[in-house]
Amino acid sequence: MHPFTLTKPSDTREALNAGGHGGRYIAGGTTLVDLMRETVERPGALVDISALPLHDVAVTGAGGLRIGALVRMAEAAAHPKVRALYPVVSQALELSASAQLRNMATIGGNIMQRTRCAYFRDVTADCNKRDPGSGCAALGGYNRGHAVLGTSDQCVATHPSDLAVALAALEADVHLTAPDGDERTVPVADFLLRPGTTPDREQALHPGELITAVEIPALPRPLKSGYLKVRDRQSYEFALTSAAIALHIRDGRIHEAKAAAGGVGTVPWKLPAVEQALVGERPSERLWAVAASYAADGARPLRYNGFKVELLKRTVEQQLRTVGGTA
Ligand code: SF4
Repeated sequence: MHPFTLTKPSDTREALNAGGHGGRYIAGGTTLVDLMRETVERPGALVDISALPLHDVAVTGAGGLRIGALVRMAEAAAHPKVRALYPVVSQALELSASAQLRNMATIGGNIMQRTRCAYFRDVTADCNKRDPGSGCAALGGYNRGHAVLGTSDQCVATHPSDLAVALAALEADVHLTAPDGDERTVPVADFLLRPGTTPDREQALHPGELITAVEIPALPRPLKSGYLKVRDRQSYEFALTSAAIALHIRDGRIHEAKAAAGGVGTVPWKLPAVEQALVGERPSERLWAVAASYAADGARPLRYNGFKVELLKRTVEQQLRTVGGTA
């Protein structure tokens, strides 16, 4: 591990000042410390933000939900408001990582986590994300777990967060504060960046900006929602495919539909064609199959991950059936 300095500010202004001078924010450290041990990441200065007052979960005036960036994954998953209002978020968190990691990792850190591409974590392999311009070992390598959507000829790594898939489906925002105190919000869908020609740039963050919260908008009620994750084993494993679905069904018709997929995209993959196919229709087995048939539109499979195209459609269809029923 390379040498680094560590500061632990007790107030937000002090933390932002350190971040504005090149310090790297750390809270749970469940991704960053691993990457530092492997010398994939070599920050010279860490700013431990765990003492900052960003630990609240609160219903917003509009009826949405704001979750502080430092709320632990396990706390958010178990929070009564999260469970009652957005089960899809609670389920996505509970299906993530191990219990030990969920007790340490934070909401802000979860959406900032870096890819699990094995070549990215192997400092002897070519990787444009870790070392821009060096190439992509996954393109000609073992790419079974890699993305089929949103890829480029520079990088095909999946985004690993389950939570971010649920947040993308619900069209949540990320709240940010800059070192000069300016605040802004960015939709999750715009915050996480596709690789394009700059796979090393993963988030729409300005230098020194700090994530303070995520905010899920109010949605019409009643709202049924849930998360399905398909993986090689049932615990401590990343998704091959996943589906986050939320449906507002009233008087026998779907009035609002939110859908996104994970394990298949370089970013959490919103499914607008699936949503459009659902709105205005009556729940039925045929509707679930027709809507899910759009889930993999635009997919570009690699040598070893062609199975994800069909698996994604089946995952979405199954989760539509689970959430929407067939009444
Ligand atoms: Fe690196 Fe992306 Fe290629 Fe993986 S897929 S080796 S992260 S450039």
